[in-house]
Amino acid sequence: MFKRLAKVSLAGLLFCVAALLVALHTHPGLGRWQSYLAGDSDRTPRENALRINWLGTATVHITDGKTHLLTDGFFSRPSVFALATGPVAPDAERIDEALADYGIEHVDAVLVLHSHYDHAMDAPLVARRTGAILTGSASTANVGRGMGLAEQAIDTVIDGDTRTYGDFRVTFIASDHVPQNALVDRATGMNETIDAPLEPPAWINAWKEGVSWSVLVEHPNGNVLIQGSAGYRDGQLDGRQADLALVSSTGLFRQSDAFQRGYVKNTVTASGASLVVPIHWDDFFVALRPAGETPPLPWIIEHLNGSFSALVDPMAETNSRFMVVRPGEPFWFSSSRP
Ligand SMILES: [Zn+2]
Repeated sequence: MFKRLAKVSLAGLLFCVAALLVALHTHPGLGRWQSYLAGDSDRTPRENALRINWLGTATVHITDGKTHLLTDGFFSRPSVFALATGPVAPDAERIDEALADYGIEHVDAVLVLHSHYDHAMDAPLVARRTGAILTGSASTANVGRGMGLAEQAIDTVIDGDTRTYGDFRVTFIASDHVPQNALVDRATGMNETIDAPLEPPAWINAWKEGVSWSVLVEHPNGNVLIQGSAGYRDGQLDGRQADLALVSSTGLFRQSDAFQRGYVKNTVTASGASLVVPIHWDDFFVALRPAGETPPLPWIIEHLNGSFSALVDPMAETNSRFMVVRPGEPFWFSSSRP
């Protein structure tokens, strides 16, 4: 009797594990969004333009050819299984491979958008490899210290702080994280800070949120807003202007209509961006693949169409263009302002 019960429950468990594995490998396509993909004119290098390369999650490489900025620099991308079963640490091999693949040698500053593992975990190592200064909240500074970065390689910012790198002026504006369910909140230290040096390997809940920033990158060729998580504070961009908005879309489909409209209002509409590019929708539980081949998050985690629509529908009231780029496919951008 017990033997049979054990057999049945083992079979049930195996079935559940198999179903979960299949679900984690079932990705939506970009089908509905093909007509929004960046075109040849966006992807042709040109003078007096910024080169923007989104490299998955909220990792974005921005350069004017002289100065190089990188947000987050997250390339380790551990699997769901690795995250659930043990402590994780930066994967030096994946980091070096990505930096080489995407031609990132020297970086002036790694700007960390908040301190969750998928934003901050690799940043100190990337900063060290590229000679960059690690810039972010006090929590991010502790991620840097835990990995042995010297104090002079760490720059701690607070709300409203501005830094200059070459012709770039970067402003950190306190914003908010996309709302998640209570279980995920607890597992990711939402509204909590990292108060002591964080030395990996560690369980993912060690990388607490810290401050979620809206980062404004201003340059004579165009201003770029980077919103690393799909949350907002009302009025966060009052008096600010951007031409291009790179906005996290993940998790938007789960929010109320009012929240979705508030998000677009406080990022796209408030900045006046003429071009809007969604980010953080790639499956960051698999390694970054060659340009354009990294799939979207699996259905079981994210509803791509729902989240893209949550951006596009309220944008109907603006003159902004929605453009989809795939991870690792750079585009060139300049402001059309006089
Ligand atoms: Zn986060």
